[in-house]
Amino acid sequence: MEMERREFLGGLTSILALGLSGCSEIALNSSPTPTIKYGPAPYKTPEFVPSRTPRPLPPPSIDKITRPRRALYRLPGEGNLMAWTVDDGASSEVVSAYAKFAKSSGIRLTFFMNGMYSSWADNAKQLRPLVESGQVQIGNHTFSHPWLTKESDSVIVSQLLKNAKTIKNLFGVDPAPYYRPPYGAIDFRVFSVAASVGYSAPIMWYGSLSDSGKITPEQVVDFAEKWFLPQHIVIGHANYPSVTKVFTQLLTLIIQRQLQTVTLNDVFLN
Ligand SMILES: [Zn+2]
Repeated sequence: MEMERREFLGGLTSILALGLSGCSEIALNSSPTPTIKYGPAPYKTPEFVPSRTPRPLPPPSIDKITRPRRALYRLPGEGNLMAWTVDDGASSEVVSAYAKFAKSSGIRLTFFMNGMYSSWADNAKQLRPLVESGQVQIGNHTFSHPWLTKESDSVIVSQLLKNAKTIKNLFGVDPAPYYRPPYGAIDFRVFSVAASVGYSAPIMWYGSLSDSGKITPEQVVDFAEKWFLPQHIVIGHANYPSVTKVFTQLLTLIIQRQLQTVTLNDVFLN
């Protein structure tokens, strides 16, 4: 248990150092400046149209590694991987657009869904083949998005398990051990309670599109420019349509920077 606490605190220190926003409430200003410089993104490329996608991205050919037993803010080691994660699902249209984008581009995504949104049932038929092929992974973001640090142990458990049941019903998969605490709100108690029911892998982030609330498409591109970097776990949201207007720009950025998008299952053995 002491080891777990040390590892957990190590992770916590990381997020304090990184200071990144997800689900809008957390907005610290101590983000480090990325040291890797790239050319400018092509802001004037057209809105994403499936038939005009340059080429499907290949599936990853990588050696899986053992998952560290702590909260993760970035992908371990050095490389050109990027985990693009998408949370919530307040908008059925945005979830649908992400599914179409994934299918057309080959981009690999991890959705941290809240089962309270009908968008997931609305789009289950469209998403299911992508989930079955492994291109899209579904992670647990709790059923109704509470601050877990403010909830009792039993609510933490019921929020995770109710959402897992919804995911199983819609997609036929078990999201464990991967979960993302809403607002990034986690402490040692939440970490331990979640782990006691199989959720030993809190997935945090190192970079955000900051679109849990409404921002402009140009702002989404600006955040992608800042955070689409090697070994980053980047958080976006399926809540507002701005991101769907710039899928082409985001895909181009990934190709320019020679990033390989991955799901968590692509990276980790367990
Ligand atoms: Zn969220």
